[in-house]
Amino acid sequence: MLSKNALVRALTGYADFKDEAVRARLNAFGPVLIKAAEIRKNLADDAEEKDPELMVRAMRGEEPVLRVSPVTIDRGALIESARTLGEALIASFKANGHVTDEEAAQAAALDWDALLTAEAVATAGRDPSAFLADLEGVVVPAELFDWFVLPVASLAVRAQLDPVACDLSDSYAPNRNTTVHETRPNTCPVCGGPAVLAAVVSTTNQGNAKKLFCSCCGASWPYERMRCVSCGEMAVSDLHYEHDQADEDHRLHVCNACKDAFPTVFAVSDEAFSPDVEVIVMTGLEEAYANQSA
Ligand SMILES: [Zn+2]
Ligand SMILES: [Zn+2]
Repeated sequence: MLSKNALVRALTGYADFKDEAVRARLNAFGPVLIKAAEIRKNLADDAEEKDPELMVRAMRGEEPVLRVSPVTIDRGALIESARTLGEALIASFKANGHVTDEEAAQAAALDWDALLTAEAVATAGRDPSAFLADLEGVVVPAELFDWFVLPVASLAVRAQLDPVACDLSDSYAPNRNTTVHETRPNTCPVCGGPAVLAAVVSTTNQGNAKKLFCSCCGASWPYERMRCVSCGEMAVSDLHYEHDQADEDHRLHVCNACKDAFPTVFAVSDEAFSPDVEVIVMTGLEEAYANQSA
């Protein structure tokens, strides 16, 4: 869940993280995530309620919830959030020396009203990944997309979807009889987006359990501990964890079958855990591993 308290706790916890590049990313994106959490909080009271049965069906491999029952996003509110988040990102990137004055001015001049058409906003409530892919083709100038439009538009939509996605995730978790084997989806059961992070957390009645997280909508869902998120491989001999000697909490689940290395967080207490912060922290290990395997 996008929660200001959880974000502040997690960011504070990583203020002295060993990897300088990771600290720079946390400094640059932290204030924008916090702004998104504030927007989310204001929206949460009016969140739509979805039938939990849709989540159960999506977990069985049927269509993601939002394809069956999209979230109606208010276009004016989305444009307003994008402007607010855009200002926060520009300010933070400038303060951290990530952009030139010229790049910042270009970003500040972007016309969100023209970019977020009624059609685009409708797509965002049904398929946020498709919404972001569509935007990539229409942003002018194109070099604004990666550093500015993508993070701002995805967080603006996330703030809108997060309350619904978190409710659905919570509704699913406690009711499942885990003795029945079910193959879990590796893409988001709420919005169909890709899983971006796994976490192995201790639970009160099932020991350690693995969950996957989606950053498009904020959903999380249970997943098999010994199964590749990318290709579904379940042979234990093909799967192992890579991590820094000095840091056992952050690992990559490496699959010999498809060569995927999936970011996985271990043993983090619920209080200090923020998937959105962990996704950034993981980039350090992912880069080190990619360089070492290249
Ligand atoms: Zn999702
Ligand atoms: Zn694999």
